[in-house]
Amino acid sequence: MPVPSHSLSPRDGANEIPAVRLAAQRALAARLRLVEEYPQWEIWRQQARTIKSEVISHLDEYLDRLRSQVEAWGGRVLRAADGPAACALIMDLVRRHRVRRLVKAKSMTSEEVGINAALTAAGCQVTETDLGEFIVQLAGHPPAHLTAPAMHLNREDIADLFVRHLHLPRQSDPAALSRQGAEHLRPRFWEAQMGLTGVNFAAAASGHLVMLENEGNLRLTATAPPVHVALMGMEKIIPALTDLEVFLRLLPASATGQRLTAYVNFIHGLKWHPQGQQAFYLIVLDNGRSRLAADPFFREALYCLRCGACLNICPIFQLGGGHLYGRVYTGPIGILLGEYLGERADLTDLCTQCGACSQICPAGIDLTEKINLLRSRSRSHPGLRAAVRGGSLLLQHPRLYRCLIPLGRLLGRSLPRRITARWWGGHQSPPQPTRRSFFESRPPGPRI
Ligand code: SF4
Repeated sequence: MPVPSHSLSPRDGANEIPAVRLAAQRALAARLRLVEEYPQWEIWRQQARTIKSEVISHLDEYLDRLRSQVEAWGGRVLRAADGPAACALIMDLVRRHRVRRLVKAKSMTSEEVGINAALTAAGCQVTETDLGEFIVQLAGHPPAHLTAPAMHLNREDIADLFVRHLHLPRQSDPAALSRQGAEHLRPRFWEAQMGLTGVNFAAAASGHLVMLENEGNLRLTATAPPVHVALMGMEKIIPALTDLEVFLRLLPASATGQRLTAYVNFIHGLKWHPQGQQAFYLIVLDNGRSRLAADPFFREALYCLRCGACLNICPIFQLGGGHLYGRVYTGPIGILLGEYLGERADLTDLCTQCGACSQICPAGIDLTEKINLLRSRSRSHPGLRAAVRGGSLLLQHPRLYRCLIPLGRLLGRSLPRRITARWWGGHQSPPQPTRRSFFESRPPGPRI
C-alpha cells in the first residue's frame, strides 16, 4: 500500500486542536466514571509502584530470567542497545526469512526506533493493522497519542483519507469507517511473511508476554504470519503473572475508561502453521533506559504504563496536540523520556506546572516535580532563563524592586523605541514602569 509522506498541512494543524481536546475530554470523563467505582484505586497505584520499583532496581536479573523462560518455550531473545541496533536486528530477520510483506500492530517502541522507514527503504511493504495506526499511516503523520494515534483527525478527515487512498465510497459514520478499514486490512494478515507487535507486560518467572488491544488485529498480526517479532522496552518486565492483575485494573481504566480491553493476549509458545512451526523473536530495547534506571530521581519514569492519561489532562497537550512535541512520546511523560530515550530533546518548557499529570498518573509518577527539576537544569534559551531567574529574584525583594523603578523608567524613556520593542518581541510595546510598584498594585491577600 502506498504510504504518503507529506507532513502536516496548515489545515491539519487547524483541525487538530478541537479534535484533540474533544477526544481527551471524553477519555477523561470515561476514566473518572470508572475510577469513582474503585475504592481500591490508591492501593492499586501503590502496588504498581512497588512492583515497578522492584523490577527497575534489579533489571538485569529479571531480564536474564525472562530470556531463559522465553527460550525454554522456543522463542529467541535478542537485546538492542539503541534504535539503530534494533532496526539492524529486525532488518537481519527480514532478510533471513525473505520477508516482502510485513504487518504491524500496537508498537510505540517500533515508532521510537523508526523501523518503518528502514523497512520501506529496503522495499518491504509495511501495513499498520491497528485502525488508528493505519489511519495515520495513510495520512503520513506520526502518531498523535500513546493509545489513540489518530486522535487529531475527525471522522470527515478519515473519510477523506479512505476515499483518496483506498478509493472506497465515502462514509462518515464511525462504524461504517471501521468496517471499511477492517475489510481492507483483513487480507494483509494472510499475505504477510512477518508480524511485528509491541508488548505490554512480560512476566519474567514464566516467560508469558501479555498484549492488550480492542480490535483483535494484534492477535492476527502475532499468529497469522510464519514469523512473529515482538519489540519491547526493557521496563515492560513484571516479576510474575501473579503481578499482572493490578496493571490490568489500572491501564485500561486510565487509557479509555474501560474495565478491561476487549482482548488480552498471552503469548507462551510457538504456533503451528501448514508450512511448519512459527518462528518467534523477542527484541528487548535499551535506548537510554539503563541510563534512566541508574538515575535515582528520574528512574520513576520507567514505571510508566503508557496509558496516555497524563497527555489527556495536560492543558498544553489539549491545546497543541501531540505533534507539538516533535517526538514519539508526547505530553508530560514525553518531556521526561525525551531527556533520556534516544536523541536528547529538551521539552521542559511545554509544561505549565499545573500538577494535574502527577495526580492522574496510575503509576504515581510525580511528573510535575521531575519536569520542574529538569527545567532548572535546562541549558536551552539561556538568556530567557537568566532573565526569568533575575525577575523572580527581584520580585522576592520588594525594596530592591522599588529602588530599580527609577532606573527602569529612565531606560524606558531614553532607549530608542525600536530597540526596546525588539527586546520585547518586536510586535508589542514594552511595559512602562508605573509610579506604583508591582507589590503596591497587588490586591490585598495572604502572602504565598
Ligand atoms: S506517566 Fe503515568 S499517566 Fe502518563 S502515560 Fe505513563 S502511566 Fe500514564
